[in-house]
Amino acid sequence: VAKGAGKGRWCRYQSELHTAIVERLELRAALTEAVEKLSFSVEYQPIVDMRTGVAVGFEALARWHHPARGPVPPEQFIGLAEETGLIEPIGDWVLRQAVGAAARWHADRGERGTPYVSINVSARQLRTPGFVATVRAALAAADVPPDRVMLEITESLLLRDEEPVWSELSELRAHGLRVAIDDFGTGFSSLSYLQQMPADVLKIDRSFTETVASSRRQRLLVEGIIRLAGTLGLDIIAEGVETEAVRTILLDMGCSSGQGYLFSRPLRDPDALRWLRGDPPPPGLPPKPRPPGD
Ligand code: C2E
Ligand code: MG
Ligand code: MG
Ligand code: MG
Repeated sequence: VAKGAGKGRWCRYQSELHTAIVERLELRAALTEAVEKLSFSVEYQPIVDMRTGVAVGFEALARWHHPARGPVPPEQFIGLAEETGLIEPIGDWVLRQAVGAAARWHADRGERGTPYVSINVSARQLRTPGFVATVRAALAAADVPPDRVMLEITESLLLRDEEPVWSELSELRAHGLRVAIDDFGTGFSSLSYLQQMPADVLKIDRSFTETVASSRRQRLLVEGIIRLAGTLGLDIIAEGVETEAVRTILLDMGCSSGQGYLFSRPLRDPDALRWLRGDPPPPGLPPKPRPPGD
């Protein structure tokens, strides 16, 4: 009996494994096709000055439109794209879209000040020979000044292979772009690493942000991160600000930039531009907070 049950389990395991492999192969084939057809889009989430609700920048977030599955979130395809090398064409496309959007915002805003665009960059992209040149060419083609562009690199990536990527990042910074350490708090950077990292901004991961209103311990931790950033001369942005309580606590701690559903979900480009013009956000989204007494 035991043997039979074991065999049954083994077969089930085999068939589950088989299904997983087939699914993966299918997803991979679909992603390859999506790259050929450019079945992607980019959404832009406002990064706001939490004191006023005014957008200082927008983070570009990739979306994949699968013919059968509909929109596929980045968590489900960025990893696969990295493994297969498809991240290079995808990342390239996202870069050009995002820089193009920044150019349009610039044209629309003129002298009233333009928000920057913040672009997520993966390990593989950074290690592609010529990456720095590609970025610079994209900016030149769209006539976007480098200080209007920020690149986001996750903390875990920066830790994984410091040397080659660090020099690329330093080079980009020398050209005037800004570099943000993304998802900070999830990657266990040592203080000495942090001190040397070629970065301008530290983005506090949502897993920290969302708990500041519920736990004193967490509040102290986030306060520590904010103080550390200040000591190292890094600006700070809080991700995943969903409630008024969290916004208030962060402001009290001296963190004035943030992004999250409290302010806006990621927007399609026309809506991002509308946001900038001060029009009401699209229906179904929370209203843009106004400064007290406004
Ligand atoms: P991320 O860079 O940390 O981006 C923030 C994610 O949090 C986004 O998810 C955003 O939609 C979501 N978010 C923003 N505010 C809130 C909030 O208040 N509450 C909650 N629950 N979530 C919020 P998204 O768009 O699904 O992207 C997931 C991740 O995929 C990103 O995390 C980023 O690491 C990666 N990613 C997205 N686009 C690209 C890309 O073009 N290239 C690369 N390499 N990675 C990308
Ligand atoms: Mg990011
Ligand atoms: Mg992030
Ligand atoms: Mg994150």
